Amino acid sequence: MKTFHCNHCSHLVFYENVRCERCESLLGYVPELAEISAFEDAGEGRWRSLHPGAEGALFRQCHNYAVENVCNWMIPADSPDVLCRACQLTLTIPNLSAPDNRLYWYRLEMAKRRLLYTLAELGLDVKSRQADPEHGLAFEFLEDGGDGSRVMTGHDNGLITLNIAEADDAYREKVRTAMGEPYRTLLGHFRHETGHYYFSQLVENNPRWLEPFRKLFGDESVDYGEALKAYYRDGAPAEWQASYISAYATMHPWEDWAETWAHYMLIVDVLDTSTSYGVALLPDDPSEPTLTDRTPVEDASFENLMKRWFPLTYALNSLNRSLGMPDGYPFTLAAPVVEKLRFVHRVIEGAGDKSQPREAATPPGQGAAQTGAQPAAPIEASPAPLQSVDVTPAPQQPVASEPPLQPAPVAAQAAPAKRATRRR
Ligand SMILES: [Zn+2]
Ligand SMILES: [Zn+2]
Ligand SMILES: [Zn+2]
Repeated sequence: MKTFHCNHCSHLVFYENVRCERCESLLGYVPELAEISAFEDAGEGRWRSLHPGAEGALFRQCHNYAVENVCNWMIPADSPDVLCRACQLTLTIPNLSAPDNRLYWYRLEMAKRRLLYTLAELGLDVKSRQADPEHGLAFEFLEDGGDGSRVMTGHDNGLITLNIAEADDAYREKVRTAMGEPYRTLLGHFRHETGHYYFSQLVENNPRWLEPFRKLFGDESVDYGEALKAYYRDGAPAEWQASYISAYATMHPWEDWAETWAHYMLIVDVLDTSTSYGVALLPDDPSEPTLTDRTPVEDASFENLMKRWFPLTYALNSLNRSLGMPDGYPFTLAAPVVEKLRFVHRVIEGAGDKSQPREAATPPGQGAAQTGAQPAAPIEASPAPLQSVDVTPAPQQPVASEPPLQPAPVAAQAAPAKRATRRR
């Protein structure tokens, strides 16, 4: 994630912010610029961007920003859209009459927007269901039923289902511990599940990638259901760390890909942030890990990313230990894992059009509000073990406060609880 500044007073601001802490200007993300902009009120719900790149253009707040307090993206004032490009991707939201669901929804949308930033930075196209009903990406945020039925996080043909309980820190930590996972985060879930989506978009039907994929990850045509059963019966093979990024990755080549993809996203986002902050490591003893390279991640070669990654994680873990926290990065990258990461890098490089601005591309005019649709059940079982570092913001109250919990008008219908269709 890059750093941003208020266009009114130059104060440092953050991707999640809605107001400048210093001058109180309204802030919003303009996906067309891939920038947080400060705005001045232009009346009638319109806001004039103070960002030089916007040339005085007028915008409106996304409905989920102005009314629901769960978004901070802007829409061009002349667009017929009600929802921003990010919110359009969410087809179903939780029932907001339940006390904590609005907070969970906010956390889910925030993690989703961070994912979208990285995807756009890598030049990956994000098509909505409205723009491409067959191949578009969509999200549904569902909750377990009162009758004991469970929502399983997973991906099915572009539809990504998240159990909103994953946004409850206590629940997620409990599951993480029970599953013996080193990491489990909302952002990691989004990264992992979009890995499945991009596998179908970029690899599955592409002769250029399918054979090299199988050489590295194995034959993905092996029965998924059987692999799943075997994994939960037998667990991961001993010594899995020698070839896999996580235990869960051993389950099936699809999961290995999704875990590796998620890990690549993690590396790119963390390196992007540290580079933007000018983080450097200059130890007195030059034999210790050193980091001075500041190549933008979107321009960096894979070798360059890896070379910078090791010193950074060494420092990150050491800082966390001083904080009394678990290691920020409890992973080791064995040589075969690095080769899998390199493959993800090559696939993204081959797909991305880095000449385009970083944005989550959805054509205008697709601004339908969310519906309470109840699509077919996803097939993939996976509250997957997601490895990801939540990049915690700097200490000076940089992040928008979580939204008020009082009832607010609701644009989207909440879905009824989803039936349990998958294991785990
Ligand atoms: Zn300001
Ligand atoms: Zn929005
Ligand atoms: Zn998965």
